[in-house]
Amino acid sequence: MKPIKKSSKLNNVCYDIRGPVLDYAKQLEAAGHKILNLNVGNPATFGFEAPDDMLKDVIKQLPKAQGYSDSQGLYSARVAIMQYYQQKSLKDVRVEDIYIGNGVSELIAMSMQALLDNGDEVLIPSPDYPLWTATVYLSGGKPVHYLCDEEKNWAPSIDDIKSKITKNTKAIVLINPNNPTGAVYSKQCLLEIAELAEQHGLIIFSDEIYDKVLYDKTIHHSIAVLRPDLFVVTFSGLSKNYRAAGFRIGWMLLSGNRTHVSDYIEGLNMLASMRLCPNVPCQYAIQQALGGYQSIDDLVEPGGRLYKQMEFAYKALNDIDGISCTRPQGAMYLFPKIDLEKFNIKDDELMVLDLLKQKHILLVHGRGFNWDKPDHFRLVFLPHLEELKPALADLADFFKHYKQ
Ligand code: PLP
Repeated sequence: MKPIKKSSKLNNVCYDIRGPVLDYAKQLEAAGHKILNLNVGNPATFGFEAPDDMLKDVIKQLPKAQGYSDSQGLYSARVAIMQYYQQKSLKDVRVEDIYIGNGVSELIAMSMQALLDNGDEVLIPSPDYPLWTATVYLSGGKPVHYLCDEEKNWAPSIDDIKSKITKNTKAIVLINPNNPTGAVYSKQCLLEIAELAEQHGLIIFSDEIYDKVLYDKTIHHSIAVLRPDLFVVTFSGLSKNYRAAGFRIGWMLLSGNRTHVSDYIEGLNMLASMRLCPNVPCQYAIQQALGGYQSIDDLVEPGGRLYKQMEFAYKALNDIDGISCTRPQGAMYLFPKIDLEKFNIKDDELMVLDLLKQKHILLVHGRGFNWDKPDHFRLVFLPHLEELKPALADLADFFKHYKQ
């Protein structure tokens, strides 16, 4: 029979966080081996539980949640999101500016599909959370990566952004706090990016899904709050701040000058209605999450579980000869640098596969984050210290002997 091929729209699409190395990990698991998954930022699987009140509300409201909701999401949930941003001093937000989605993932797809024509360019950080790049390709656009500078705590290089703006550039994506680097962007840096967006008429898409996962008294600035006059699309949700990734609830907020974007908004509304609505029962968790005392502070402050794990993994990685790592200011990942010459590494995906085979630890190779050299990997520091300690000892042992 004639082979059925996948769509050519997928030709450039990569999502290596759940990529080919994962298939090998599954085979090992099927053969009875225990794999330590340091590849996916899924807090619940490491015993980080969502606040109880969120669960109670979902359970209580379940009987009422059998039908579709408004396609942008439940009114009460959107009011809670609106008030949350109003409290962050973003005054000019209305309920109709908020779209709830089945995770931020669905909203990233909608926001790009509604915008891009073939060949339109979108500036995306390198390294990035790869869904952004993949979705731009799927939507017919061209991702153009701008450099985040490891020497400067992974801050975006403004000069590089400037040099990559062309007549085809439609938008700039920020991931702040950043996955995979853990960088949180300064006010100054955000204002400079906003200035460029204004000069060149670009939409700013700001993925702030980790905006409460902050260490060492780092303050998070939302670019929408710094520049309430500019058209900005801000994303956040329940997956990370509230440890409820399985609820599949994210939101997207439009703010600033909307006079020139009515056609784009029409496109967003069309896509929102085509997917009917987001998961209804779990929308009932939003008001509880944002309204009450559901803080993550006791996890991220010194002495808190996530803080202790970050601190341990950061130090342990830097203690490995040939590995160096920037201290994260936010999120739940470390993105260490590998001394390529020392280990003679040419292929970082092969390195990750070798680690999996030898130590049954699963990481993601740096190029999976649209980083162009094979000299990084990403590690998730969500496991308890009892698991992280032996894992980092195994990693140290692996690098002690590794040569490609
Ligand atoms: N944006 C970033 C930066 C992420 O790291 C993730 C998930 O890891 C997402 C978006 C997707 O999140 P959601 O679970 O809301 O789809």
